[in-house]
Amino acid sequence: MTAAGALALGSATTLAVTRWAGQGAIPATSAPGALLDDASRINPTSVRGVLFADPSPERTARTVAPLLRRIATGDDPAMAVAGVRHSMGGQSMLAGGWVLDTRPMNRIDLDRAAAVVRVGAGATWRELIPVLNEAGFSPKVMQSNHDFSIGGSLSVNCHGWHASHPPIASTVRRIRLLTAEGDVLTCSPTENAELFALALGGYGLYGVILEADLEVWPNAIYEPHFESMPTSEYATRFAARTSEMAYGRLSVDPLSFLEEAILVRFTPEAGTAGTVLPLTSPAAPELQRAIFRNSVGSGVGKTLRWTLEREAAPWLAAPMSRNTIQNQPAAVFADHSPDSSDILHEYFVPRARLWEFVRAARDLIAPSGVDLLNVTVRDVRADGRTTLAYAREDVFGLVMNFRQEHTARADDRMRDLTRALIDAVAAAGGTFYLPYRLHATAAQLRRAYPAWDAAMAAKRRLDPNLVFRNGLFEAYGR
Ligand SMILES: Cc1cc2nc3c(=O)[nH]c(=O)nc-3n(C[C@H](O)[C@H](O)[C@H](O)COP(=O)(O)OP(=O)(O)OC[C@H]3O[C@@H](n4cnc5c(N)ncnc54)[C@H](O)[C@@H]3O)c2cc1C
Repeated sequence: MTAAGALALGSATTLAVTRWAGQGAIPATSAPGALLDDASRINPTSVRGVLFADPSPERTARTVAPLLRRIATGDDPAMAVAGVRHSMGGQSMLAGGWVLDTRPMNRIDLDRAAAVVRVGAGATWRELIPVLNEAGFSPKVMQSNHDFSIGGSLSVNCHGWHASHPPIASTVRRIRLLTAEGDVLTCSPTENAELFALALGGYGLYGVILEADLEVWPNAIYEPHFESMPTSEYATRFAARTSEMAYGRLSVDPLSFLEEAILVRFTPEAGTAGTVLPLTSPAAPELQRAIFRNSVGSGVGKTLRWTLEREAAPWLAAPMSRNTIQNQPAAVFADHSPDSSDILHEYFVPRARLWEFVRAARDLIAPSGVDLLNVTVRDVRADGRTTLAYAREDVFGLVMNFRQEHTARADDRMRDLTRALIDAVAAAGGTFYLPYRLHATAAQLRRAYPAWDAAMAAKRRLDPNLVFRNGLFEAYGR
């Protein structure tokens, strides 16, 4: 911490923090009142300040712990934990509070014999994939893009295109957690098991995940297979196929809105598993982006895109490695306009009830006037590990990407649509995902997450002074 940095913070409370930061070399670099936002770009949040973690989890814990004690005694505001801030409802920030930016804590240590990687929670998949790739390994479960931090991925309990796997918590051997009391605990299914189940999928409310031991999977060349079908047949056709990775796409073309589907499956080529393969980037990102963005606000653009996806993609697709498939930045398709954002929703529905939910969603979205840009379907298996599980049986996850203008009216319209979609998925026995906009009512949240009240009671027992808080807790935890 430099003297200039300390002065920039400028208040008695902050100077105290600065002293600890100096001892432990955590630079607290942003001024009080710094304005942060998340991937939604509609959540400007004025925070007390940002602390940056140290590359070493031990040093991070040593220097953050005194601040946690000051928070507990009411001498400092509470703390939110942040990775890359790709959540969209303030889950990684707290108005007026401290934010711990974990990204510098990015050490990676691969145990090839055990096929387990120990990784600092601030590391991103973008940093981890090349290290695994060089050893013939690949992440076992991650999102469909590589931008996210490991801590953020574990705290939402992410999932992706991996077929036949529960969410990422199923791949975690152990985590090290900095608790509200400033202790560092090892948590696993057999050690501090309650905290393990709460912290994975716990949105930073039970402590700071410092590092994690994750199981890894052999990299391999994957052969792609494409099939088009009516959405009504997707669940049956999917169940009859095997694959290591797979995703579905539903049409957003107005001529076949949500009624047609494409299933893309990847199967490993014999003899390639565990070999060291070149890590390449996705093909023609500019072209992919142009086709995608030209479909925004345009029925014709959506018809063209769907025709290309259905007819041309199977001919253009070539075998590629599992790591190459996963090594894709979200920015390829992202909205860069200052006036609008791409806003994600995700709904989880029991596999047999997919078409029931999609039909209901079609009847809600089509007349809503909200621009649905994309829907992908994921295979997510039952999660028996986390307290706040969203996949309590084998489900399909439907990721919906909408364009939303940065106006209060557009947000109101999105809130109404979100609530209607949550009711529809609940009627089909399903749930919804929590990293996105916090539009659900409290009753909808409790219906989708029956363990919510027990999880909040555990929060108050384990963190009685509410040291860790964020936008999700402010919305539903009180
Ligand atoms: C374009 C896009 C695509 C996405 N695709 C997928 C997908 O395919 N599958 C999927 O499952 N999700 C997906 N998501 C959601 C994404 O997985 C989550 O938003 C995830 O949290 C992002 O990681 P992050 O590092 O940005 O976390 P942040 O947004 O920074 O944090 C998310 C939550 O984790 C907590 N947290 C972060 N780090 C720690 C830590 N070290 N210790 C304790 N708590 C911590 C925060 O407090 C917060 O509550 C997508 C999001 C976007 C924007």
